[in-house]
Amino acid sequence: MRIPLFSKPSPKAIDPVCAMKVNMEKPHGGTHTLDGVTYYFCGPGCNRAFQNEPEEYLSGRKKVDM
Ligand SMILES: [Zn+2]
Repeated sequence: MRIPLFSKPSPKAIDPVCAMKVNMEKPHGGTHTLDGVTYYFCGPGCNRAFQNEPEEYLSGRKKVDM
């Protein structure tokens, strides 16, 4: 039997609102799917902001610094 020495790193996604790294397995702000693409959020505030104006964040016109 093999014992893993290192735990696998969890996959990370970039929050499109604040550019923070988000754990894709447990995103604190949940996810939102738009045009077949799933976005991950660091917090519910970023998720809400993105859902209000997704084009603004995807185009980079709007950004939130945290
Ligand atoms: Zn965020």
